Amino acid sequence: MFKKFKPFWGKKPSLNSSYDAVIIGGGLHGLATAYYLAKDHGLKNIAVIEKNYIGFGGAGRNTAIVRANQRTQLNLPLYKEALDLWPVLTKELDYNLMFNNCGNLNLLHSESEISASRMNVTSAQFHNIESLLIDAKQVKELVPAINISKNITYPVHGALYHPPGGVLRHDAVVWGLAKGASKLGVHIHQQTEVTGINFEKGRIVSVETDKGKINTPRVLVSAGAYSASIISGMLGIRLPISVLTIQAMVTQPLKPILNHVISSNAYHIYMNQTLKGEIATGAHMDPWPNYTTLNTCDYIKHQAEALSEFLPCLRGVRFMRIWGGLADMTPDMAPIIDGNDTIKGLFMNCGWGYFGFKSCAVTGKYLAGFMATGQCPDILRPFSMSRYKDHRLMGETAALVSYSPDN
Ligand SMILES: Cc1cc2nc3c(=O)[nH]c(=O)nc-3n(C[C@H](O)[C@H](O)[C@H](O)COP(=O)(O)OP(=O)(O)OC[C@H]3O[C@@H](n4cnc5c(N)ncnc54)[C@H](O)[C@@H]3O)c2cc1C
Repeated sequence: MFKKFKPFWGKKPSLNSSYDAVIIGGGLHGLATAYYLAKDHGLKNIAVIEKNYIGFGGAGRNTAIVRANQRTQLNLPLYKEALDLWPVLTKELDYNLMFNNCGNLNLLHSESEISASRMNVTSAQFHNIESLLIDAKQVKELVPAINISKNITYPVHGALYHPPGGVLRHDAVVWGLAKGASKLGVHIHQQTEVTGINFEKGRIVSVETDKGKINTPRVLVSAGAYSASIISGMLGIRLPISVLTIQAMVTQPLKPILNHVISSNAYHIYMNQTLKGEIATGAHMDPWPNYTTLNTCDYIKHQAEALSEFLPCLRGVRFMRIWGGLADMTPDMAPIIDGNDTIKGLFMNCGWGYFGFKSCAVTGKYLAGFMATGQCPDILRPFSMSRYKDHRLMGETAALVSYSPDN
C-alpha cells in the first residue's frame, strides 16, 4: 500500500566498500564539495556520509542571510564570489534557490560605530563590493517602519548599507545541491554515522561507520560543530573551536513591512521578513560552550524588547516558533579549510560560526579542486590551521562591526 521510501533527489544507494572520496557530513559544505568534485573534477565515486538527515545541522537551522561585506582583505574575495555564485548555481542546478538580493542594512548607533564602519566600507569597495554608509533619514526612507527617534535605548545614527546582499532558502540550497550531486553519481548515505577514521603510514586508508567500513584515500571532515572534538578527536587532532548555541525565531505572518535584512550589534539582533510574511530574527549566541539546541526565555524577552523598540509596529505580534543550532566558533571568526601534511588525504572544512551558509557553494567549489589535485587554491590559503601557530589570526570578528556606546 505504501511506496518504499525513495529520496526525491534519486535512488537510495547501497553503501560500497570503497569510494574515491568520503565526505563526513551532509550539511551545506559537505554537499557543495561533493557536487563540485563530481561536476568539475569527474570524481563520480564519492560518498557523503550523514549521521542524521541532510540539512540536520546548521544547514537547516540558519536564518539564510547572505552578504559579501566581510571585514578583512583575506576573507572578502571568497564572500564576493560566494554572493555572485547564487544566481549561477540556481540555473546550473535547475532548482529555485529563491535568492532575494533585497540588501542588508547594519544599523549604527554611535559615532564610534560609524567610524569603525568606514574601514568596512573601504575594505569592501577595494574588492568592488557595493557597501556604503547612509544616515538615519536615508535608513527611514528605505525602511519606513523603523523608529529613528532619539528616545530609544540605542538611537539609530545611520547604517552600513550593502545593496547586493539578502536571503535565500536554506532548505532549497540543501536539496538543490543534494539533487545535483546525486544526479552526477554521488552516493548520499543518510542515517549513517562515521565512528572512526583510519590512517596508516601517514595516509588516510579508511573510514569506520555504523553500517560498515569504507576504504578510501580521501576524507573531508565537514561535520559542522561535530568536527570539533568529536571527529577531530578520532584523529587525535585538537581544533581551536568552541561549540556554542545560536538561537533564532519567527513571528506570526504579517503583511509586508520589511524589504531588507536589518541587523544591529548594539541590540544584538538581525531580522528579515520571509516570503510567508514572518519576521525571522536571531543573533543570540549562548556564551557557554555546549552541544544542546535548547532555547532560553531570557532570549525571547530580549528579542521582543529589541524588536518593539526599533520596529514599534511589531508590538503585540506573537512569536510562533523558536529553535537553536550549533555554531563552531574559531577565535578569529574565520573558518579552518585545510589539507593535512601529516596525514595525506585528510581535508578539513569547519569553524564557520555565523558565516557558513553564505559561503558554502564557493568554498565547496574551491575545496573540490584542492581535494582532487592536492593543490590548495590561493583563495583558500589564508584559512589554513597554521595561522593559529604563526599568530596570524584574521580579525573577522570585526565583520560584525564593533559597537561602542560611548557617544
Ligand atoms: C540559528 C542559526 C542561524 C544562522 N544564520 C546564518 C546566516 O544567516 N548566514 C550564514 O551564512 N550562516 C548562518 N549560520 C551558520 C551556518 O548555518 C553554518 O555555518 C553552516 O550550516 C555550517 O555548514 P556545515 O556544512 O559546515 O555544517 P552543518 O550544516 O552543521 O552540517 C554538518 C553535518 O554533519 C553531520 N555529522 C556530524 N557528525 C557526523 C558523523 N559522525 N557522521 C556523519 N555525519 C555527521 C551532522 O548531522 C550535520 O548534518 C547560522 C547558524 C545557526 C545555528
